[in-house]
Amino acid sequence: MSTFLINFLLGACRHRHQSRPFTLDRQTYKVCLDCGKEIGYSLESMAPLRSEEQRELKKMERSKNVRRKGIA
Ligand SMILES: [Zn+2]
Repeated sequence: MSTFLINFLLGACRHRHQSRPFTLDRQTYKVCLDCGKEIGYSLESMAPLRSEEQRELKKMERSKNVRRKGIA
């Protein structure tokens, strides 16, 4: 399997034009300036999050949204 396909399946982005990391709503991430993909970023390791860490983050985000909708 090619590296490109592996990265695609893991949701990674191969573009190099990325914004500086910034924090919004207590989440730090970079944005790909080519495709607009959000890349989670760890301030602790000062590196992009690994794909499994990103997945965890998305899961947490989703459960937060469900809770917010439940209140409204
Ligand atoms: Zn990209």
